[in-house]
Amino acid sequence: MDKNCIFCKIINKEIPCDFLYEDEYAVAFLDIKPNNPGHTLVVPKNHCQNIFDIDDNILRELSVRVKKLAHAVKMGTGADGINIVMNNEPAAGQLVFHAHIHVIPRFLSDGYKHWPGKPYAEGEMPAVAKKIKASL
Ligand code: 5GP
Ligand code: ZN
Repeated sequence: MDKNCIFCKIINKEIPCDFLYEDEYAVAFLDIKPNNPGHTLVVPKNHCQNIFDIDDNILRELSVRVKKLAHAVKMGTGADGINIVMNNEPAAGQLVFHAHIHVIPRFLSDGYKHWPGKPYAEGEMPAVAKKIKASL
């Protein structure tokens, strides 16, 4: 519990929200500013910031809940598809620094486009792969 964290306050029921699910590891509730109605956040109960400090076991448990919520959100909203998104650090659009996974219902008609791909420069691709492999 981080007393300054908005998601800890939600988990603690100090701030109201529309809960969809709760168990010993995680909660799921509706995002207050949805990309589409039914946009859901799956949130570990233990405070951690993001993918870089989350406990491995909690992440495993969370991923099973994400799957469960993905099915429920798709069925409940009649969505054509689901995006599973986790923003980690400000450069990736993270605004709330309590780890969470977005389950976003998508509709063929919703008009959203994916990010455009950028081609590698000549020789860049193996160099990038080498640096990432060295960091594993
Ligand atoms: P991030 O950019 O950190 O991945 O996303 C944070 C998400 O939390 C945003 O989509 C935002 O709408 C949602 N959010 C922020 N504050 C609240 C709140 O008080 N209640 C709910 N239900 N969602 C919130
Ligand atoms: Zn928190």
